[in-house]
Amino acid sequence: MYKAPRGTTDILPADQPYWRYVQTKAAKISQRFGYSRIDTPVFEDANLYVRSVGEGTDIVEKETYTFKDKGGDMISLRPEGTAGVCRAYVEHGMVSLPQPVRLAYMESFFRYERPQAGRFRQFHQFGVEAIGDADASIDAEVIDLGWRFIQDLGLGNMTLVLNSIGDKECRPVYLKALRGHYAANLGRVCPDCKMRFEKNLLRVLDCKRTDFACQEVINDAPKATEHLCAPCKEHWEQLNSYINALGIPMVINHNLVRGLDYYTRSVFEIQPQEEGAQSTILAGGRYDGLIEELGGKPTPGVGFATGIERIILNLKRQNISVESPRTYKVMIAHLGKAADLEAVALASELRKAGVSAAVASGGKSLKAQMRQMSALETPTAIIIGDNELAQKSVVVRDMTKATQQTIPMADIVSFIKNL
Ligand code: ATP
Ligand code: MG
Repeated sequence: MYKAPRGTTDILPADQPYWRYVQTKAAKISQRFGYSRIDTPVFEDANLYVRSVGEGTDIVEKETYTFKDKGGDMISLRPEGTAGVCRAYVEHGMVSLPQPVRLAYMESFFRYERPQAGRFRQFHQFGVEAIGDADASIDAEVIDLGWRFIQDLGLGNMTLVLNSIGDKECRPVYLKALRGHYAANLGRVCPDCKMRFEKNLLRVLDCKRTDFACQEVINDAPKATEHLCAPCKEHWEQLNSYINALGIPMVINHNLVRGLDYYTRSVFEIQPQEEGAQSTILAGGRYDGLIEELGGKPTPGVGFATGIERIILNLKRQNISVESPRTYKVMIAHLGKAADLEAVALASELRKAGVSAAVASGGKSLKAQMRQMSALETPTAIIIGDNELAQKSVVVRDMTKATQQTIPMADIVSFIKNL
């Protein structure tokens, strides 16, 4: 017996209406904000992620599926979307387009993680990037897009969490203060934090452990927003004013840092209020150094990604109903060999006319055929027997009202179409 690989799932027909619901909302919101769809390859040069996401990050160090292909090139399955989109921006000279270039993607990503609720090894994200404009109003636009997307999905009880982690001028100053604080408290924090202290200092603020003094040390830690250089401070204050003007309920969290090295200035997440650490459904930020890092001209950018599996989890938790289309509008029951041929031909005619139709199976018994239609919740039945054939007519039955009428064969397609 084969099973789907650990951390992957089959999206079965019963779940597809949720996927279509989210995908349709994502396409609509992208269109309304003027973000054009882009698709990038499922795999890229492994170095792309080392250069962008960063060497000491969990994603690159532990989670990326990397392998040597048959030609000897190091390849990674994409663990996230921003690096590939920025690579495409540089490769295709999008710098010569009107800036910012607004792009949206919706695709699958791969991370070797410990699978649990809302955490998979193959998962899907809808994300957007606005590349080529450093103004805080673009951060606000991207956040507004994300917030509207969540609202349009009907999800309630969500909070926007915001922070600024500075840029290459002021981050080192902040990191120095943070390092001093942790050096003085290193004996009290967990082994993971000790490791982060050496390798990826900012991530200590992300620690969720309560079996050591990590939370206390985090609370007393210096705050990034108090160490911003003048331009970063101005950007941060402008962003706050824009978010207030947009009326989005916002919480500033000084401990919000993101797990990717490329972020500068604004970082943000949208989180369900009732849940713990692993529930973020949307996460993003500004990445003003990334395009240059990938070999382009210095170009600012900002974007976010949402986890579609986590969104669907929340839609189900909040009992948000999505439209699930009936399998068939009409099914044709038939009795006798001649009627069988007529049924197959009529089903074909109906489909040609744009009606979803099928011939009922269930053998010779009319009862069994009708039972199948009830099980599939087919709203309309067409019944063809010897009598009907002789009179060149069919019986049309309304399955919910349990009423029926006889319709001439010549009129049946247009009659069903107009139902
Ligand atoms: P987390 O802290 O939960 O691991 P992350 O910081 O690694 O998240 P991002 O790389 O910012 O996540 O991805 C953006 C969003 O994509 C997340 O907020 C989440 O909704 C979703 N996501 C990330 N990793 C996974 C995964 N393994 N399975 C399902 N969804 C995921
Ligand atoms: Mg992660």
